[in-house]
This record gives sequence, C-alpha cells and structure tokens, in this order.
Amino acid sequence: MPTVTLDEFRERSRDYGDSLDRLDVFEEDITCSSCSDRLTERFSATMSGEFLCWECAMSHDAVTERDITHSTDPTKAVVGKSGLNEKSLCDYVINVATGCTHGCKFCYVPSTPNITTRQGMLAEHADVESGQRDWGSYLLYRDDLPERLRGVLNRKRTWKQTPRGRGVVMLSSGTDCYQDRRTGQITRGCVIELVRAGIPVRILTRSPSVVRDVDVFTAAVEKSESSDGDLVRVGSSIPCLDDDVVRAIEPGAPVPSARVRALRTLGEHGVPTYVSMSPTYPTQTRQDFETLFSTFSEIGVDLVFHEPINPRGGNFNMTIEAARDAGEDVLAEQLQRIKSDQEYWVSYSLKHMSWAEEFGEKYGVDVHTWPDARVIKNVDDELSRELRGQKSSVSPETFATPPFPASKTT
Ligand code: SF4
Ligand SMILES: [Zn+2]
Repeated sequence: MPTVTLDEFRERSRDYGDSLDRLDVFEEDITCSSCSDRLTERFSATMSGEFLCWECAMSHDAVTERDITHSTDPTKAVVGKSGLNEKSLCDYVINVATGCTHGCKFCYVPSTPNITTRQGMLAEHADVESGQRDWGSYLLYRDDLPERLRGVLNRKRTWKQTPRGRGVVMLSSGTDCYQDRRTGQITRGCVIELVRAGIPVRILTRSPSVVRDVDVFTAAVEKSESSDGDLVRVGSSIPCLDDDVVRAIEPGAPVPSARVRALRTLGEHGVPTYVSMSPTYPTQTRQDFETLFSTFSEIGVDLVFHEPINPRGGNFNMTIEAARDAGEDVLAEQLQRIKSDQEYWVSYSLKHMSWAEEFGEKYGVDVHTWPDARVIKNVDDELSRELRGQKSSVSPETFATPPFPASKTT
C-alpha cells in the first residue's frame, strides 16, 4: 500500500466490504513513517497522522494544540475486566484513550487508580503535571486497539459473565469513545471486532458523532436477530436538557440537545438506545423530569439509568467552582448545600429517584436506579429494603450471550 496516514487508512476501511468488515493494519504492508519498519505488533501515529512503529512512537514527543496535549497511551491491556457489573452495565471495558477532552467537572475518572497510579506515565508521555488537576487537557490515544483486540479474541477461551454484567463490553467508562474523529475510528474498529465475535457491546458517549457508525450498529442489529438478545446498545448521558447549565459543568462536551438529536437518529434506524441521567442536578424540578422523560419516550429511548449527584471527592469542589464561574449561581449554591448538609442531599436524592420512577412509568421508559449506599443508610427500613433491591437488580435489557464458556473467576 502506498504511503497513507492513519486517518486515510481508517476512512478507507469504512468503504471496504460490508459494515462489519474492516481493513487491518497488520494485514497491510504499512511502514513506520520514521524508521520505515513494517508495522507488525503495536503502532501509533503522529498528531498529523503519520504511522509510527511502537519504538518510534515511544520516543515521539507529545504535541499540544488548542490547549490539549495529544500523545500515545502505552497501556498493554486491551479489554479489561470491570466492576461495573455492580451497576448492571458490563463485565468488561475498553477505554480507547487515557484522558478526556470533555473535561466534565464532576468526572470521577481522574480520581480512580487509572489516573492516580499513572502519574509517571502521564508525565513521561504527555508532560502532564497532575493527572487530576489537568483533567480535560490531555488525550493519549490507543490507535492499535482494533488490531490487538482481534488477536485477543482469537486467543480467548472463556469470558467473564456475571449475572448483572452479562459478558457485555462497554466503550468506554474512562473516556468518551467518540470525542473526536480519531477516538471514533478506534471505537468503530473495536465494535466491529466484538460484534463479529458475537460479544454484546454497550456504547456510552456524549458525542453526537456516534451517528457516523449507524451502519455498524444497524448491521449489529441485523446480526442480533439470529442471537438470543441485542449485540449492541447505544446510550448517551443526558441528565438535563438545559444546554447552558450543562455547559457550565461539562465545558468540553457537546450540548444535550445535540445528544438528543443523535439518539433520535439512531432510534429511527432501529438501534436500541438508552440514556444515562447521571448525575441529575439539584436545581432540576419535577417539570424538568417530566420534560426529560417525555422527550426520551418520543425519541424511542426505552431505558434510563438514573443517579443523583454524589458530593464525595475533590472534584465536587471543582464542580461548584465551575458552576459559579459560569454564572450559574443557583446551581453553585445548591451544590454547596448538598455538600454541607447530608439531610438535604438525602432528601434531594430521594425526590429525584421518585420523580424518575413516576415519569418512567408515565412515559413507558424503564428506569434503572443507582441509589448511593449512604442514602440507603439514612432512610427507614422499608425504604432501605426497596432501595437495596433497586441497587442490586439487573437492568431490563436483553443482551446476546457471548459465545465463550463463562470464566470461573467471575
Ligand atoms: S465524558 Fe465521561 S469520561 Fe469524559 S470527562 Fe465527562 S464524565 Fe469524564
Ligand atoms: Zn519506527
């Protein structure tokens, strides 16, 4: 193949075969733009898209453009076991990058070990001083994931399948898997590999560019017809429909109205969709909840995961500050009260959960709630039992069963 960039290669792959086909870098005669070695194991690309072998990629400097530093993520893992079966989301996660340019202020990812224990790597590969403080300003791609995933799936003999995770693979929990064209290309390749292998996939994104892959999703839906459940479900985070309020604490993410349009389009193509209302803001009213649920029902969303905001962690202070800086004083004040007054937080959480239940029922949308353990502790026995039941339930989705025997170490 003559010299191509990574972007040209992935775009060419879109037109190759049918939607569940893809061109694989390791099967083409592609060479490193720096040392001319053929790419056979791991690879990456420069910011402008020239292919790099792994050795050259590891010695390549990070590039900063428009305040975002881009680099290569050296993570070895391809598909990682996940504890998100506790939320009935998945058993595995594929993170297509480290970092997330959406930079949501309440994001819990920068306080997880995925970032806190990798400070050395972030400093070395992306000149990041503090993975937590600088969250939103760095993005390390994992370009070779689709190629490596194919190899991993070929070697797999068993698959983690917990009762609540059902062997599902989620893209992504630690970043937004469609935040830009390059992450979207990695995601497309991974989804194709998983669906071809008969493994159910859950997408979660705030980016409307997810609709670019509607052809892959509809092909997955067709393939699901001969399975015992869905091979793909696509969801977006839509906690609130007020673009200005959301922009205040999700500064880099597309606005919710764009997310609604994307889900509508996917629904029109017969793709099963869901919404994550996580977290809902204390300024939202009962009427806001009714409008949200009537919108979801109208665009064909049949499932909502709901979670009130959790005032733990350093990021909560950043959320309050961001709301204040954006002139959303009422939101800032309410968030501050939630932080300092536990009783108020518990009553806000209960109110929002009951509204979600009420309007889910009214508009025919299933609701799967994630009540916080501290809220459960602070209510009477009867309600506590009910909330514990909700917390440990299985989401009302039907996923295809992975074609591997369940692993014993689930
Ligand atoms: S989109 Fe998700 S991963 Fe990215 S910053 Fe927002 S909450 Fe965090
Ligand atoms: Zn090289």
